[in-house]
Amino acid sequence: MSSSALSTKSHKDIAIVLRTQPLGEADRIIILLTRERGIVHAVAKGIRRSSSKFGARLEPFMLIDVSLVAGKNLETVSQVQTRRAYTSSIMGDYSAYLTGLALVEITEQLSVYDAETYTESFNLLAGALSAIARNVHQPIDVLNSFISRMMRLSGWDIQVYQCSVCGRQEDINYFSASSSGICTSCASMVGEKLLAFSDDVKSYIDDVSSGRWEQVDSQIQQSIKLRSLELLTRYLQWHVEKPIRSIEVALKDFHAS
Ligand SMILES: [Zn+2]
Repeated sequence: MSSSALSTKSHKDIAIVLRTQPLGEADRIIILLTRERGIVHAVAKGIRRSSSKFGARLEPFMLIDVSLVAGKNLETVSQVQTRRAYTSSIMGDYSAYLTGLALVEITEQLSVYDAETYTESFNLLAGALSAIARNVHQPIDVLNSFISRMMRLSGWDIQVYQCSVCGRQEDINYFSASSSGICTSCASMVGEKLLAFSDDVKSYIDDVSSGRWEQVDSQIQQSIKLRSLELLTRYLQWHVEKPIRSIEVALKDFHAS
């Protein structure tokens, strides 16, 4: 196939708009999580002109049908249709908005997937955005669930009821940022600072990571949820080797509310 034939080939996919950034006078780069190809950066030409054919369809958190045309460097957005317009309801609620930003940043940081995990990660993000947009679960629960399930998808499953060092299924009383649950006997051998891992927190993390939403929604102790988010965040940050600022901002908001 010649390069000119490649350049006009359009690819259709379902995608979630993660974020956008201005490009030149009138364009924007749209960072998308596509269902079939993972994260794609594409140009939306003329989107910042009032006459743009794209309207508000390429705002963050939108779920869209999109046609992309391959280009020399970046792909170009040729057509967009809205599937679910989550933007205004997420942006209308401060906790939901901060959670949405955290979901997006986590998605980008954990973007080293193999092709098999594209659809699963897409479904997890679409489900999480839907939950916070429709206010069916608390944002902090959605965030905890998303982190634990995305970590599993990335091959870093959180050990809650099994020691990550010796495999014992008893006395898992400590949490390590590098390997999660640690039993009391192994705790002294691990060369890193460990955190207390209480039964309440273990049970809650097991529920959010398994999607047992009835139990999660009936958990009313905010301290358990906050502690879980702190542990999950440390685990995530250790594995991606950098701080995830948007979670820290969301955590502050959850503490205050
Ligand atoms: Zn052990």
